Amino acid sequence: LADQVLQKRKTFLGPSLFHYYQKPLNIVEGKMQYLFDENGKRYLDAFAGIVTVSCGHCHPDVLNAITEQSKLLQHATTIYLHHAIADFAEALASKMPGNLKVVYFVNSGSEANELAMLMARLYSGNLGMISLRNAYHGGSSSTIGLTALRTWKYPIPEGEIHHVVNPDPYRGVFGYDAKLYAKDVQDHIDYGSSGNIAGFIAETIQGVGGTVELAPGYLKLVYDIVRKAGGVCIADEVQTGFGRTGSHYWGFETQGVIPDIVTMAKGIGNGLPLGAVVTTPEIASVLAQKIQFNTFGGNPVCSAGGLEVLRVLDKEKRQAHCNDVGSHLLERLRALQQGHEIIGDVRGRGLMVGVELVTDRKEKTPAKEEASVLFEKLRELGILLGKGGLHGNVFRIKPPMCFTKDDAGILLAAYTV
Ligand code: PMP
Repeated sequence: LADQVLQKRKTFLGPSLFHYYQKPLNIVEGKMQYLFDENGKRYLDAFAGIVTVSCGHCHPDVLNAITEQSKLLQHATTIYLHHAIADFAEALASKMPGNLKVVYFVNSGSEANELAMLMARLYSGNLGMISLRNAYHGGSSSTIGLTALRTWKYPIPEGEIHHVVNPDPYRGVFGYDAKLYAKDVQDHIDYGSSGNIAGFIAETIQGVGGTVELAPGYLKLVYDIVRKAGGVCIADEVQTGFGRTGSHYWGFETQGVIPDIVTMAKGIGNGLPLGAVVTTPEIASVLAQKIQFNTFGGNPVCSAGGLEVLRVLDKEKRQAHCNDVGSHLLERLRALQQGHEIIGDVRGRGLMVGVELVTDRKEKTPAKEEASVLFEKLRELGILLGKGGLHGNVFRIKPPMCFTKDDAGILLAAYTV
């Protein structure tokens, strides 16, 4: 069956699709932190469909919420009233600090960042956007410019887009020195722009970029610089939100800042196509005289599902759980690092963990080949991870948030086989 699916994919789907594993996996079922292939083989899913399945695959409560809503009404759009979108917006706003109280629903992370960029440009009256090198903020025709994984060879769209030095404590030129990284932002504004910018966007832990946690204190400094230059500060919480980092509900809280606009997707829907932008009434008012319409944004099924995701994460205390299991996992990985030269860096927070493999700890030479071999071996042992970073040598461990300490033990035992 897998061969047939692969053949159809090759014939009828675009050539930009890629798959993990030499012999691609054909997944037919998911249950909480497990996936099952066509032969019924069970895999421990430590990547959650690219950090998306937050509560667990087919979590019974989320499944029930979307099933019941689907029976009643699947679509109507916001030209009519429907309680689900209103209830969901209220619940989401209650999770935000400060004056972040106005919600727009969209269908993906790219759409959320598109809308955030539009608002930043309208609100500031400026064009220039700043993002971090190695960042991923989407693949749509404008967010592709914010996405600064230059090895992907995307064209940079028209308009001022600045990619500033990544405050990456492991590989970055300035180590942990947030001030020097922040100076690069100021330099871009002073020397590379008209002096005014529309906005700055960053994740607090870069996901696709390789689970890179920004140098502590960086966002505080940069938010000040950006606001002084007339711009707004956007936090991309597509991967870091909803308690995954364990210590906080939102990634930006780990840096002690409150953004002007927050974008989210992935975990918000546990797998449903759903994204959101949350901002202040003042910034949202730039769209008051305009029509910002999204046919599927906040449709009843996704809203009912998203609302249930928020409830489940609270009810099951998933943020505290991520903290507990994540700290345990990080500690054990660091112990493993002692005896394994190839583990160059272990980093992250909660259930957003990165393990960077290098052939030489001093030079930090990416262990690309070794990472690929191990990646295939773990799959054979029934463990699915993510791979990322510029050189594909970073294992990304970002499982559904129901992942347990026992699961962490299974993962670690497999590594040492
Ligand atoms: N922002 C971040 C941080 C992401 O990781 C992604 C997706 N990997 C996006 C935005 C884009 O989301 P989507 O694929 O839903 O458009």
